[in-house]
Amino acid sequence: MLVNMNDVLIPAKNGKYGVGFFNAVNVEMARAVIETAEELNSPVMVGTAEVLLPVMELERVAEYLIPMAEKATVPVCVHYDHGLTFERCMQAINLGFSSIMYDCSTDPYEENISKVAEMVKICHAMGVTVEGELGHVGDNAGAGKLAHPSDYYTDPDTAVDFVTRTGVDSLAVAVGNAHGDYAFPPKLDFDRIAIISQKTDLPLVLHGGSGLSDDDFKKAVQIGISKINIFTDIDKAGKTGIEAGLQAGAKSMMGLIPYEIDAMKAVVARKIELFGSKG
Ligand SMILES: [Zn+2]
Repeated sequence: MLVNMNDVLIPAKNGKYGVGFFNAVNVEMARAVIETAEELNSPVMVGTAEVLLPVMELERVAEYLIPMAEKATVPVCVHYDHGLTFERCMQAINLGFSSIMYDCSTDPYEENISKVAEMVKICHAMGVTVEGELGHVGDNAGAGKLAHPSDYYTDPDTAVDFVTRTGVDSLAVAVGNAHGDYAFPPKLDFDRIAIISQKTDLPLVLHGGSGLSDDDFKKAVQIGISKINIFTDIDKAGKTGIEAGLQAGAKSMMGLIPYEIDAMKAVVARKIELFGSKG
């Protein structure tokens, strides 16, 4: 069934488990995510992000993702990740997305608050949930180029001010995580996660989940991370699956699709078990 973010993250926060959010820029990815969640009887979040729209337009994504979520036997939140413009967020809501992230984390603080607060007001009137980001989760492509990376980490007291004044349903935190492939093993600031969780009492979101260790996930979920974003891992698994299919002698796209889906399903299943949302 199609649900919003609160429907999956509030039980997750209370039950101390995490829910995976997976981007699905084609039908194979969407099948891998939703079918695995159904097989493991787990809630799940699935969607796309503004930077991924050149691969598959938002309208096309909605055409397969929303009916698939509605028909699923488990709770599925269809979430628009890293919405960067007001217009695209409105389009996502109109297309039936049940949740959005409005990422104004690179704007000055007061602007981040006023833009996100307005978005929350609109979305909540329609039963749509909103994720905000404070601090900035950077990209691994820029790793090592910042003199003081922790300058971009989420400050706990500022987080309280941010969530109170915006009314967001969840908060993406910058705690040593980054998007894409990690150039060197990330070191998460667990104390910071715990303090932000305690002070805000909101489900926290960990972006850049691909490449973190199993122990990192387990610990992060125990102390307040309720949503974990995974894209790079399933994206790469799809490619590995296609390579395996070619090696096995598949001669067509149709022949490759099962390999692609199986490889991505294995990653989704492993994450669901690791995050503790199975069952
Ligand atoms: Zn992200």
